[in-house]
Amino acid sequence: MHTLVFATNNQHKVSEINTIIGENIRVITLKEAGIDIDIPEPYDTLEANATEKSTVIHHMTGKNVFSEDTGLEVNALHGEPGVKSARYAGEEKNFQANIDKLLLKLGDNTQRSARFRTVVSLIWQGKEYQFEGICEGHITSIQKGDGGFGYDPVFIPTGSTRSFAEMSIEEKNQYSHRKKAIIQLIDFLQQQP
Ligand code: IMP
Repeated sequence: MHTLVFATNNQHKVSEINTIIGENIRVITLKEAGIDIDIPEPYDTLEANATEKSTVIHHMTGKNVFSEDTGLEVNALHGEPGVKSARYAGEEKNFQANIDKLLLKLGDNTQRSARFRTVVSLIWQGKEYQFEGICEGHITSIQKGDGGFGYDPVFIPTGSTRSFAEMSIEEKNQYSHRKKAIIQLIDFLQQQP
């Protein structure tokens, strides 16, 4: 059994990952590790922010740690909100304000293709490894569903007619960027003694 600290305060991410991680890996949340900090995301790439989050928590705990940073990249907006997804409409990280800004900026543009991209940073025995997961899809013109979090109500993954917010966690995981990245982390750990 491998034990990892998951460097996030986002309980939605914890729930999604708990449905993917099997019994051979034990995930400890920051709360369970007794850590209560808002981990900084100061850089302009998902990769650098993921590294920052896992490194900060690794230094605090001395344990094996993973983190993830995710962005929604909308083609018609030249990749926005991207790395700024959480703070798109302001520092308060308000999901609804972010969606409102996105829909306003897209307006009635018919080019609505977008992708979620997740970068997972794993610090394993002092060395860093990264894994990427991408989910292609498009942005709706109105919000659909009230499940999930973040931009879920306005994102429909390719292959579905339903938004992420209309799906259970298990259904979302059939398409999810986060799941694709975490599967690679699991494969990596399965190869470790
Ligand atoms: P971060 O990785 O916590 O910095 O995530 C950035 C922002 O992207 C979050 O605040 C959410 O608004 C959004 N986000 C991340 N993952 C998802 C997802 O799976 N669905 C919808 N929105 C997401």
